[in-house]
Amino acid sequence: MADTKSSAPSTDGEPVILKGKSVVPGTVFAPVTWVTDRPELPGPDKTVAEGEREAEFEAFTRAVDTVSGRLSARAATVEGNARQVLEATVAIAKDRAWAKKVRKSVNAGQTNVYAVKQATDDFVEMFLKAGGVMAERVTDLMDVRDRVIAELRGEPEPGIPDVDSPHVLFADDLAPADTATLDPELIVAVVTEKGGATSHTAIIARQLDIPCIVAIGVNLRSIAAETEVLVDAAVGTVETGVDPADVEKRVAAAAELASKVRGWHGPAETADGHRVQLLANVQDGAAARQAAESVAEGIGLFRTELGFLSETTEPSVEEQADRYAEVLSAFPEGKVVIRTLDAGSDKPVPYVMAESEENPALGVRGLRIARTNQELLERQLDGIALALKKSGREESSAQTWVMAPMVATVYEAQWFAALCHERGLVAGAMIEVPAAALMADKMMPYLDFVSIGTNDLTQYTMAADRMSASLAHLTDPWQPAVLRLVHTTCRAGAVTRTAVGVCGEAAADPILACVLAGLGVTSLSAAPPALAAVGAQLGEIDFAVCREMAAAALDADGAEEAKTAAAAVLGL
Ligand code: PEP
Ligand code: MG
Repeated sequence: MADTKSSAPSTDGEPVILKGKSVVPGTVFAPVTWVTDRPELPGPDKTVAEGEREAEFEAFTRAVDTVSGRLSARAATVEGNARQVLEATVAIAKDRAWAKKVRKSVNAGQTNVYAVKQATDDFVEMFLKAGGVMAERVTDLMDVRDRVIAELRGEPEPGIPDVDSPHVLFADDLAPADTATLDPELIVAVVTEKGGATSHTAIIARQLDIPCIVAIGVNLRSIAAETEVLVDAAVGTVETGVDPADVEKRVAAAAELASKVRGWHGPAETADGHRVQLLANVQDGAAARQAAESVAEGIGLFRTELGFLSETTEPSVEEQADRYAEVLSAFPEGKVVIRTLDAGSDKPVPYVMAESEENPALGVRGLRIARTNQELLERQLDGIALALKKSGREESSAQTWVMAPMVATVYEAQWFAALCHERGLVAGAMIEVPAAALMADKMMPYLDFVSIGTNDLTQYTMAADRMSASLAHLTDPWQPAVLRLVHTTCRAGAVTRTAVGVCGEAAADPILACVLAGLGVTSLSAAPPALAAVGAQLGEIDFAVCREMAAAALDADGAEEAKTAAAAVLGL
């Protein structure tokens, strides 16, 4: 299968090239350190005599104290997101309900290690049933279980080993508590067997700006600790046995590119002056203020639902307006694109959720919720209109655009646009369902702009769950089928002179960004740390080259071929 091509693993010191999904670009050469293995999980063992059960449980509480003490000490040395992740892990370790379940099993004669496993299994089942963000906590639960079991057995703590010189970290996947304490001075790249572009490992690597490749597959195991590897995270390869002269050349070229990126401050345009707006994806006021410190010209995707994930009752119009105004105020002059609630599927908003569904990604999510609850959408639009007044934008020339997620039909586009226009709001639709891309020419007359959500557009075009690590070769926005739908949308936009943005992860890939510009995309929105590399790459080439790259990618047979063909136009 071309999409997952790698050379065979070596058992005799022969050079190896493994290929995965590039998440954060960068080229480094360093020895490997493997994450310390998770402990073997125990089977049932009901052998603890009645008189020893109290001591057995006390050993468990001591282990929990040691593990949470270590994690708290680490939390005290870091800030922001990393601290929150570690504190959340400590809270799980100290959870009373979990300890109660352990005590119950120990009282029934089970060993403490098995009791820990059993109690965790129960919680995992419960969390998975709840789905959404609860299901995402399962990795944290299992991480706490492994740390406590290792402590009870006197084994080394699972996770990142201490290194005192730069290393490349190899792992099957990383637990949140591991990634929270990654030191970019010592861990210069991360490579994982599993994971996908939206996995926890990928999100943290992006935040810390550590070169990262995920979803390499089991062959990663063929490379032992301390082997020197060349990680080229721009193309997604890990190589052993590379000629030292070649290593020097490739690392130097990557360093030169990195320094160009650091020195790039925008605004983005190709070498011959074709403008492409670079915008930020944010979820709240704090992220918007951080984005304002970056090269972003404005906000291309404000994911409003992420601020409501723990709300059990709907915030009033006034409260909503305050939250939206906080984001708007971060860019007093810049464009801000607000997306209405994309609740459902992987983003359950408690006050919105209806009954559970067999197949939530294909269910009542995004704009579909408003079909049976139009008032909910109208109150949000009222909140947005009020936020415009509160932030003084109503009188300013700063653009505020509003778009709906998961639009699938022309009727939906027309209906949403009418509700926005009634309130004087600029109306757009996300193009993330293939049907919307195919019908874009019919939708454009009703809309003021569209923004392509390549994450979902890829998931629905390829019929592959975006959360699935084993389908990462399919959930790749380089898939020519996805690019053809982007092209169809851009052509429709060109006819009606409607702006066509991209706000999925595809916009963060500098080479793919050139392809998207060549296809006719007018703005790119991504996590702020990714933007400078995109801008610097666009600035290196003429618009005609972007168009040539786009044509080469559209004509390719698969994702890998599309990437190779576009890179070849640049001589890479
Ligand atoms: C997308 O689907 O590409 C998108 C930007 O929306 P989200 O990732 O929030 O589903
Ligand atoms: Mg989406």
